[in-house]
Amino acid sequence: MSKEFDHRREIIVHGLKMNSSGLSQGTSGNLSVRWSDGMLVTPSGIAYDALQPEDIVFMKLDGSFDHPLAPSSEWRFHRDIYVARPEVNAVVHAHPTHCTALAIQGMEIPAVHYMIASAGGPSIRCASYHTYGTEALSVAAIAALENRSGCLLAHHGMIATGANMAKAMWLAVEMEALAHLYILALQLGKPRILPDEEIARVVAKFAHYGLRERA
Ligand SMILES: [Zn+2]
Repeated sequence: MSKEFDHRREIIVHGLKMNSSGLSQGTSGNLSVRWSDGMLVTPSGIAYDALQPEDIVFMKLDGSFDHPLAPSSEWRFHRDIYVARPEVNAVVHAHPTHCTALAIQGMEIPAVHYMIASAGGPSIRCASYHTYGTEALSVAAIAALENRSGCLLAHHGMIATGANMAKAMWLAVEMEALAHLYILALQLGKPRILPDEEIARVVAKFAHYGLRERA
């Protein structure tokens, strides 16, 4: 089987995982992988358990595609992330409950736990609200992703990126766990925040090992 076919299958496998892990429901999330001079992205409005590898849409970075199915309605920020961030090879977008609850309030996730470093810095920012699928949303998301591999989207959900699909999906799960912890901690009082120097140390430690695994 070709490498392209493997990527198409990988997108479906991770889409199913996204649903079974509770990150997403039905057709609300979308996934992509950088491929050739463009990306492979989930089509619009088809449940992951009904997707076949050939249903994944190849879209060039100029936004053109030649496929009977339409790409995800959120293709624009996927495409714009690949253009803006050469180190990113996979993008996961979903509306998981805890990330989205914070995003409804326009709240970022601060350094309440050292694992915040998995997103590259001492916070996970929340991009301002813009209608889904628009260029304005894409611009806001890319600004919120500066020096980070993940962000929240106000009144919408979250984005996680990575050097490959496994890493992007791992970060998506980690972000939802952090959001859940932060919401619980808020109920106990004012959450205590780790200093920026400590998060910088953990970011360096993760980079040193080339892995972003739990210590
Ligand atoms: Zn969405």
